[in-house]
Amino acid sequence: MNALATTLTNKLASLTHRTFAYTQSEPFAVDSKFAHASDVQLATKDLNVYINGAHILKNVSVQIPKNKITCIIGPSGCGKSTLLRTFNRLNDGVDGLKMDGEVTLGNDNILTANSGQLSELRRNIGLVPQRPCPLPMNIYDNVAYGCRIHGIHNRKKLDAIVKHYLNAVGLWDEVKDRLKTPAARMSGGQQQRLCLARSLAVEPSYLLADESTSALDPISSKKVEQLFTELKKDYSIVMVTHTLRQALRIADYVIFMYLGEVIEVGNAHDVFDNPQHELTRRYLNGAFS
Ligand code: ADP
Repeated sequence: MNALATTLTNKLASLTHRTFAYTQSEPFAVDSKFAHASDVQLATKDLNVYINGAHILKNVSVQIPKNKITCIIGPSGCGKSTLLRTFNRLNDGVDGLKMDGEVTLGNDNILTANSGQLSELRRNIGLVPQRPCPLPMNIYDNVAYGCRIHGIHNRKKLDAIVKHYLNAVGLWDEVKDRLKTPAARMSGGQQQRLCLARSLAVEPSYLLADESTSALDPISSKKVEQLFTELKKDYSIVMVTHTLRQALRIADYVIFMYLGEVIEVGNAHDVFDNPQHELTRRYLNGAFS
C-alpha cells in the first residue's frame, strides 16, 4: 500500500512539474490518468527489419536518452524512417514486413504488444508527422481528439487541456478567438504546431518526429525547431532529419546510419567534432548524402 502511495505521489509530482514548465499560472491541466513514470527507457536490441526479404534494419541496438533531442542521420534510404516508425509500430501495415529482436519501453516489449497495450504504448510515444495533417475538424477538436479517445469528456477539463497545449506550442494567442473554425484554414506552420499540440495533449514521454519541418517555410521551420528545443525539458525527442545543418543546430545526441546499420552513436558534439568512424567522417564532409 505504501509503495502504491509513493508511486502515485511521484507520478503526480512529475505531472505537476510538467504543467508548471509551460504556464506558471495554469492549474493542473491534464487528466491524472495520463500520469506516468517519466524515467521509462526507450530502446532497441538486435532489431532486424525485413521487407519482402530485403534486410532493411540490421542488428540495431540503441538507447534513446531522456530529455534530449536525438537526431537520426544518414543518407537517403539507410533506414532512418523505418527505425523511427518501429518505435511505435507504425510499420505494421507494410506488406511483407518481418521483424525480430526487441523494441522496449521500460519493461514492455513493443514488438509483442497486443492491440490494447499498443494503444497505451502509442499514447506514451507520440508522433509528429512529416507533413502537417490536421484532422478534418475544428482547431479545438483536433487538440481534444486523443483525450476523448482515452475517455476524457468533461468539458471544463477538455477546455483546460486545449488551452494548455495550444499555449505550449505558442498557438493560443493566434487562435483563441477561432477555436471552432476548421483546422484546415490555418497556415502550414500553424497546422504543424497544432499537430504537435495534439500529440502533447495525451502526455507522451517520447516524441517521434519524421522530418517534421521539411514541408514548412524557413520561419515556421525555425519556430518548430525552437519548440522542440524547449520541449526537451519535459519530453525525449527522436527526430529523423535529412538536413545535416538542422541536426548540427539542435541535436544533443546522434545516431548515424548507413545501409540499415547503426555506424556511430554519441553526444552530438563528439560525433560532429570528432567522428570515430570513417563513414561518419565522409558523410559529415558531404562525400555522400
Ligand atoms: P530513410 O528514411 O533513411 O530514407 P527508409 O527507412 O525510408 O530510409 O527506407 C529504408 C529502405 O527500406 C529503403 O531501401 C526503402 O526503399 C525500403 N522501404 C521502406 N519502406 C518500404 C516499403 N513500404 N516497401 C518496400 N521497401 C521499403
